[in-house]
Amino acid sequence: MYQQVIWDLVSGSFDSGDALEKFREQIEEMTGVKHAVCVPMARVGIYLALKYYIKPGQRVILSPYTIVDVINMVICAGGRPVFADVDKETCNISVGEVARLLSDECGAVLVTHLHGLACDITAIRELCHRRGVALIEDAAQSFGTKVDGTFVGAFGNAGIYSFGAYKNMNSFVGGMVLTPDTQFFEWLRETLSQYPKLSRMEMLKRVLNGAVMDVVTWRPAFCMFTFWLFRAGFLHGIDFINKLTVVDYKPVLRKTLPDHYRRLMIQTQGRLLMQQLPNYQKDAEKRFALARVYLEGLSGLKEVTLPPVRLDGSHSYTYFPIQTRNRLQLMRYCLANGADFVYGHYRNSAELAIFSEFQGDCPNASDVSQSVIFLPVYPTYPLQQAERNVALIREFFEVHSENN
Ligand SMILES: *Cc1c(COP(=O)(O)O)cnc(C)c1O
Repeated sequence: MYQQVIWDLVSGSFDSGDALEKFREQIEEMTGVKHAVCVPMARVGIYLALKYYIKPGQRVILSPYTIVDVINMVICAGGRPVFADVDKETCNISVGEVARLLSDECGAVLVTHLHGLACDITAIRELCHRRGVALIEDAAQSFGTKVDGTFVGAFGNAGIYSFGAYKNMNSFVGGMVLTPDTQFFEWLRETLSQYPKLSRMEMLKRVLNGAVMDVVTWRPAFCMFTFWLFRAGFLHGIDFINKLTVVDYKPVLRKTLPDHYRRLMIQTQGRLLMQQLPNYQKDAEKRFALARVYLEGLSGLKEVTLPPVRLDGSHSYTYFPIQTRNRLQLMRYCLANGADFVYGHYRNSAELAIFSEFQGDCPNASDVSQSVIFLPVYPTYPLQQAERNVALIREFFEVHSENN
């Protein structure tokens, strides 16, 4: 992966060819959606879709349990965030809440398919149709997830994928908007034509960042070094380490789209995505095998809430979140015994001071934001290690229950 990109960048061919166009066409064919358009980042896709579909000042219903910049995009696009609580089991937006909050002042419902798990998209689409409100799907974590044979991202007026550095399709930065709406598609193309392309230096910076992350998370290096750093940061609350490892450590409010977000994808990114496209299913199967170890190994543990078991493709297990009230103690115990879990870092944005103007009461999001731990399911993760993780978690709760 790096060899090719670096070669592209030094040889100057980083924007030659037609890989982006081919990739776009392949996604249209794969999803059956009429138009697919590459955008600078998923969040920019969300911003543009909202900008097109809502009128200034209109309400946008969304889950507060997501990255802070998604909320910011609503504000940047001129919308007013209205926070709908999540269902505890799925961490996804609750249909009941959407139904309760929908009103004539709403311009759009923005749903997230979090962790690779589809939200109840058919029910929400029905609600939106009835009201004539736009439906936008944030499928940044769910490339490949399907509901009744249809890919998520293909249900709404717009569906958005991310090809950022930590996603299951990775071109270091990038994203895509799917839409059946030809008018929106034309507006989108016109708007994007004003954006400059990602420069060679900007791409190089992204690639180097990715390389550093790959080195530090490469298993041997991770076991010897990075893990201890994470662990120290977590166990002792060391600020400067947590700053490096925690997303949205210091959330900021944005009212305008930062200029450096407006950068079109370049052909070398298209080549990376074309290479990955044939493999995403195989990777999903590996994730699934790991998820199975956790689902079977941890079932029946009353202190742990597992993600839903869905064998129909509507969960691609991009992440494997478990929830427990004893998150801190469990993390301490497992980290001290060599496990490499991370705790969920999304906040209940409805509680953040920067969004105080938009406060909504979302007790489930609050609860979930304090109970999620991610068990590793990345495709190269060893199955035996997953089994060891299961044993450690069980061990913790046995000891812990005895103490109670
Ligand atoms: C990563 C992510 C985004 C943003 O993706 P970018 O391509 O980095 O803009 C949006 N929503 C969710 C749920 C994400 O995980």
